[in-house]
Amino acid sequence: MAEMLDGPMVAVQGLTKTYGGGSGKVTAVDDVSFEVGRGKLVALVGRSGSGKTTLLNCIGGLDRPSGGTIVVNGITVTKLSERARTALRRDTVAFVFQTFGLVPMLSAAENVGLPMRLRNTKTSVRDKRVADLLDMVGLSKHVNQRPAELSGGQQQRVAIARALANEPQLLIADEPTGQLDADTGAAIMGLLRDVIANEGMTALISTHDQSLMDIADATVRLADGHLVADDDASYVSTGSRATGSEHQGRIV
Ligand code: ADP
Ligand code: MG
Repeated sequence: MAEMLDGPMVAVQGLTKTYGGGSGKVTAVDDVSFEVGRGKLVALVGRSGSGKTTLLNCIGGLDRPSGGTIVVNGITVTKLSERARTALRRDTVAFVFQTFGLVPMLSAAENVGLPMRLRNTKTSVRDKRVADLLDMVGLSKHVNQRPAELSGGQQQRVAIARALANEPQLLIADEPTGQLDADTGAAIMGLLRDVIANEGMTALISTHDQSLMDIADATVRLADGHLVADDDASYVSTGSRATGSEHQGRIV
């Protein structure tokens, strides 16, 4: 166990995802291999349709790849049952989406408390953590407002607080500033950077935002489902783990 947890937070090997069949077949992710070290903040970039969302959803257990393996925090995600993937999303991985994904009928505080409810966290513990998280994202004065009563930037702050509720090991954010104006987006990126550092998380964030690429430890670039070389990450052998394999993966 200890040995496993010394490994990378994310290890993706030969990942492929196709949609449809016959002449309508689309290869959204095509033989992608890379690793993300613990505590790293990695930017995932590439134009629209390059496969970012598909890749992130496979890593976080929202979607199943067609081939290849994914290991997150020592857990082989690609071998998990539906139920175990649900547990992974509850306990290990948290998502932040471009469209926030809040529950419209629930207040900010109730949205943030939801992941803890699903884990049957004691009410007193939950209430305290919800208050702390909403304070951390600067929304102490808005705890009782519903999503429709909040600005886009405020809604994304609620979503970030909710993502942190169960202290995930891995934060996956898919274009978290895609629907925000530049200033609000910059504030959200700054917040993400701070909470990732404070909570000691690993993060994988897809973006078009140069400000994220500037603060990221590394950038993974996709084009047409393929990984392409980027300046700040080097291709290195993962042969020490892959018994006798010549495979070249990327460690970031
Ligand atoms: P990105 O997030 O970089 O914009 P996506 O992962 O959403 O890219 O999409 C990659 C490719 O896969 C695109 O060609 C897209 O049309 C296709 N695709 C994504 N989801 C589906 C789906 N559910 N069914 C069919 N094709 C899909
Ligand atoms: Mg996308």
